[in-house]
Amino acid sequence: MSKFVVAVDGPAGTGKSSATKRIADLAGLIHVDTGALYRGVAYLCFEAGFTLDFDESDQPAIGKIAQKARFEFKRVKKQNPSNRLIVNGHDVTSLIRTPDMSMMASKISAIPGVRNALTGLQRTLGLSAPSILEGRDIGTVIFPDADLKFFLTASIDERAKRRLDELEAQGGDTPSFEELREQIRLRDEGDSTRAIAPLKKAEGAVEIDTTALTLDQVVEKMAKLILAKKKELAI
Ligand code: C5P
Repeated sequence: MSKFVVAVDGPAGTGKSSATKRIADLAGLIHVDTGALYRGVAYLCFEAGFTLDFDESDQPAIGKIAQKARFEFKRVKKQNPSNRLIVNGHDVTSLIRTPDMSMMASKISAIPGVRNALTGLQRTLGLSAPSILEGRDIGTVIFPDADLKFFLTASIDERAKRRLDELEAQGGDTPSFEELREQIRLRDEGDSTRAIAPLKKAEGAVEIDTTALTLDQVVEKMAKLILAKKKELAI
């Protein structure tokens, strides 16, 4: 590995995205939100007419959608969220954060053809510059030799509460706390039990339980270790 790579994994709502975006700016790293790629494929699946109850015989067609998709992250400085995701020429950034997209992303992410289609791109992005990648299998599969690995956790109630706050801030129809909690539980279950690249703590990963921590505290803990590692490696 020629560049500096930080791998951050963990289930939904643990603060991965918020923390890694801040740290990327702070430590001069590029931020790669790998979940957005799975969400981009989910978007294309809905567009192609698939629904959440697609069945096993649809898997090859969904794998093909992922293989043919063209992804581009547009880095927009001084704007939150700083990365726009362009899929097949369309900016889908504001369309991929709904609960249905989350569920579809989780379902299609268990399809080997989809994971294979996205592996090379994630590695290319991660090696294009010193980077921080967030997802579910970064430290276990995409970059098992990452310079530093983190695994974030938090209680399911706290994660559902954070997701509710996020969706309320976006406006529009918002599911209830109980509905969100159940969606997160189902996603956790699917992500952790799938046969290929299941969500689990990577060997050597630093585990941080964010339940009782503020975003500032999470950023501080992670940034301290990252900056020390950069110094050690003279990056
Ligand atoms: O992180 P985010 O919630 O945006 O991810 C959406 C879904 O994409 C996850 O529930 C997971 O199923 C899938 N995913 C994955 N591997 C990654 C990133 C996300 O399987 N590296």
